[in-house]
Amino acid sequence: MVSLEQLVFSYGPIRALDGVSMVVGEGEFFVVAGPNGSGKSTLLKILCGLERPQSGRAELLGRPVSAYRRKERSQLVAYLPQTVPLDFPFSALEVVLMGRHPHVGLLHMEDRDDVDKALEAMARTDVAHLKDRPVTALSGGERQRVFLAQALCREPRLLVLDEPTAALDPAHQVRLMDLLEDLRHERGLTVVMVSHDINLAAMYGDRVLLLKHGRVVCQGPPEEVFTFQTLEETYGCVVLVDKSPLGCFPRVTPVPKRYLQKEGTAKENR
Ligand code: ADP
Ligand code: MG
Repeated sequence: MVSLEQLVFSYGPIRALDGVSMVVGEGEFFVVAGPNGSGKSTLLKILCGLERPQSGRAELLGRPVSAYRRKERSQLVAYLPQTVPLDFPFSALEVVLMGRHPHVGLLHMEDRDDVDKALEAMARTDVAHLKDRPVTALSGGERQRVFLAQALCREPRLLVLDEPTAALDPAHQVRLMDLLEDLRHERGLTVVMVSHDINLAAMYGDRVLLLKHGRVVCQGPPEEVFTFQTLEETYGCVVLVDKSPLGCFPRVTPVPKRYLQKEGTAKENR
């Protein structure tokens, strides 16, 4: 589905990506993690065709991202940015319906089928009850779920999400991740998402990639990537890694300073 090879991208003098390669298979759940400013959002923008790398290759389904026409690309890929600028008080349903534009065309009216698809997507992200409310008057988490519904009702083959769980309460975080997992099974949806939540990434990701200063530290299955050595090298803080009581994936606990100063510290007990 996605193939990125040796991507280099700079914003003027700032090198955001420095030789990043990754491959995501069809139907895979792929999570990108890494410290603030490590290049995660830039990587997603290149993969969606919103930025062009200065060097390297970015392909979707074996074809350069830049070779897709905009409409074709937006039927294939739905991208949910980290923050969506909002200035007009569209209703939540109107915002979700905009997700149908790549299918109906900007100058055509949505039909009943489009409205049904929008309402179904809203039910799945738990925002159906907000359909007539202006999006400008919703909470951060509610708005996030409205924009997720917009992305879903586009029925993409690839969903690209930038920190989609950041504004959500724990119940909605798990619900969103479960929904993505269901969609993979129902439609073979491929998911590439940026998340700071290492534990969610470990529970749901088939493979994960850790970025630091625009370079790949490590990529592979969560149990191979999320070791305390790799996480400490990436984030520069002390973490404990043990096994989740739920199954064979790692559980990561960042260690507060006060525990590092005690006798028999967490660090030595690892
Ligand atoms: P992340 O999503 O991992 O936090 P980003 O991809 O947003 O990181 O940013 C990577 C680097 O590029 C950071 O150093 C950031 O400050 C810089 N950067 C991001 N967007 C811009 C921009 N529009 N202009 C200049 N520098 C930018
Ligand atoms: Mg970002």
